[in-house]
Amino acid sequence: MNAIVSLKNATKSYLLGKVAVPALCGVSLDVQAGEFLSIAGPSGSGKTTLLNLVGCVDTPTSGTVEVAGHNTAQLSERELTRLRLHTIGFIFQSFNLVGVLDVYRNVELPLLLQGRLSGSERQKRIVALLDRVGLREHTRHRPNELSGGQRQRVAIARALVTRPSLVLADEPTANLDSVTGQNILDLMKELNRTEKTTFIFSTHDARVMSHASSIVRLADGRLAASAHSDAASQAELAELEPMQTGERLPRKRVGGTS
Ligand code: ADP
Ligand code: MG
Repeated sequence: MNAIVSLKNATKSYLLGKVAVPALCGVSLDVQAGEFLSIAGPSGSGKTTLLNLVGCVDTPTSGTVEVAGHNTAQLSERELTRLRLHTIGFIFQSFNLVGVLDVYRNVELPLLLQGRLSGSERQKRIVALLDRVGLREHTRHRPNELSGGQRQRVAIARALVTRPSLVLADEPTANLDSVTGQNILDLMKELNRTEKTTFIFSTHDARVMSHASSIVRLADGRLAASAHSDAASQAELAELEPMQTGERLPRKRVGGTS
């Protein structure tokens, strides 16, 4: 087994006043290195909560979350920061760009924190990536001078610039027109293929899902079903019943003849 992410009966509740609101209810899931996995589900089903747990920006209320072999609950703040900086690229739904920094500086930030590349090495990498996401003309613009789709592409470039082995993307194409969205998906797939980068991305767009090597579906904080991603599976998926809390899910990969 070569799971880069492993959740065991992971639960997350948020306190609203004195009431605990369950957002994830006993999710067990293994993600193998090199997967291109889509988390599907309607708004409020727990997609962002799940990605936040895997991305080490939040901790489970119960159960365990392992990332790259580490139980995240047992890591210190410093170790979590290292894991986020060196292993994970996170494309947040709300972008989380730094408002006072221009596009170039936003994308450069994780490289500066890593402190591994020289200025010219950083520049080469950043310029190539900004080219790839179609932002070359905007390097000196600040986030508030950009459209939603442009901000999203900055967030994508920032997540990819360190060449992380695991990329988490929360509805990465939600703010993009279909051509730009396709371009971003192509870039993600290319990195998946050439760098063996593992991708976990949430979406409720069937077109985006159709690119996944596997799909898991969330409903009301529970994993509901999984399948490979051809059109037939999509139809199958709709008919499957939610599985019991904590149950481990079989998952097929898309491989043409599998
Ligand atoms: P999705 O990303 O699929 O839309 P979320 O993970 O954002 O779903 O939310 C799952 C559930 O948890 C929803 O009912 C949402 O209202 C609730 N929730 C998410 N974040 C918080 C929070 N910070 N405080 C309280 N409830 C939250
Ligand atoms: Mg969300």
